[in-house]
Amino acid sequence: MTINIKSPEVEIREARLASSNGFIGTAKELCHKSKRNKCCHRNRSFSQCLECSSSRALSMLVMIRDVAVINHGPIGCSADFAEFNFTNRAEQIRRNLPLKNVKLLSTNLQEKDMVYGGEVKLKEAIRDAYVRFRPKAIFVTASCASGIIGDDVSGITDELEKELGIPVVYVSCEGFKSQIWATGFDSAFHAIVRKIVKPPIKKKKDLINIINFWGSDVFTDLFARIGLRPNYIVPFTTVDQLKRISEAAATVQVCSTLGTYLAAALEQEYGVPEVKSPPPYGLKGTDEFFRELGRSTGKKKEVEILIEKERERISEELEDIKDKLKGKRVYVSAGAAHGHSLLALLSDLEMEVVGAGIFHHDPHYDNGDERSDALKHVVETYGDIKNFSVCNKQVFELVNVLNKLKPDLLVVRHGGLAVWGVKLGVPTLLVGDEQFGIGYQGIINYGKKILDVLSTKDFVENIAAHSELPYTNWWLRQDPYRSLGREQHE
Ligand code: SF4
Repeated sequence: MTINIKSPEVEIREARLASSNGFIGTAKELCHKSKRNKCCHRNRSFSQCLECSSSRALSMLVMIRDVAVINHGPIGCSADFAEFNFTNRAEQIRRNLPLKNVKLLSTNLQEKDMVYGGEVKLKEAIRDAYVRFRPKAIFVTASCASGIIGDDVSGITDELEKELGIPVVYVSCEGFKSQIWATGFDSAFHAIVRKIVKPPIKKKKDLINIINFWGSDVFTDLFARIGLRPNYIVPFTTVDQLKRISEAAATVQVCSTLGTYLAAALEQEYGVPEVKSPPPYGLKGTDEFFRELGRSTGKKKEVEILIEKERERISEELEDIKDKLKGKRVYVSAGAAHGHSLLALLSDLEMEVVGAGIFHHDPHYDNGDERSDALKHVVETYGDIKNFSVCNKQVFELVNVLNKLKPDLLVVRHGGLAVWGVKLGVPTLLVGDEQFGIGYQGIINYGKKILDVLSTKDFVENIAAHSELPYTNWWLRQDPYRSLGREQHE
């Protein structure tokens, strides 16, 4: 697979990876169809709200510490600006970093701009951002509105780059372009690789790029034990750090949904090898992750010692937790690769995964290597999962499924979903920090947290008894997937 970093536009996931967001069947069936390159997407005749690419691109870019970001769109596209700043501040505290606010502006396109164009406003906003924040680079994210009226955002950013003497970068993330919001991550990384990253001057043999969201620092200690150093990207980096990510010895990622594009682009453009393995969640996934990292960096012996020691360290506690959790029925609603990782982790705790609603599906990743396929890893290691759907956070489907399956526990990845489990009387776990579940300690972390959450059963049942669902009994008796059309095979 070739990534074209010369083009200002990123190729969307539907075209690049045949990604989809509508499927129902089993995990094994989906793997099988993906392998045979059969597109099994099913359109919905009804859909509730979902996220957009623009928001995902912004979530990565705003946390670069010395840049300004301009969203070229109507003010409605800025609905999550406050959340970005909240996450940014909370996660800086978790990483012990000095607190900074995001530097984020909107061009506030209005009706008149839809007629006469928003280019003048955009130029003013870029100059304003430069004067107010003195950033090392300015990113301009596009919106549906700027895309529809045809503003030449790429041309304007190139022009202002020459005028201001810093990178001014167009980010092609118009919401309407892709139904897979993770395409926004690719848009942000495409912009970074195209305009910020420079060719390596001196390779650093012990430095490992870690493509991550934010979350706690679990890799410094683990990597130090095998003679490596983590370089967390992209949140909380600076422009100067990003320029040099081409000098790392390898790239790993905590979530292939997040990092597929950036990891592949760094390997293609600058020869930084991507570690091709499942993400480091669950025992086997973590073993494979570290073994592959060891092979790429010449640290095989050190990795074997680390694996042996870590497995031994957690074994007694893990057995104890497994005894308590064995057979408890759990349902997972989460993003693609991270959701697959949670399935592995919960299976290691010997819980019974009764189903999953995964936000989208990438039949393969940009590296084209099956070892990175987290779902295949789960099916081959732990067996098939029934009631497996690909569902882009359609709450009406989730509520219906939960009501039918009645699991002991719901594990969700996004905040807005947690409330539905509780309203149905299902103890619900939301963990915002992806790194919380990483590695051997991550299994213990999750196990302990789940035991805590299961003890809330009486409490959530009480809440459910006093809650009213917006869904009628008529809907709860229906097939949850009745709005999904037939599979579209290509
Ligand atoms: S870019 Fe489009 S889809 Fe995204 S928030 Fe704005 S209008 Fe909505």
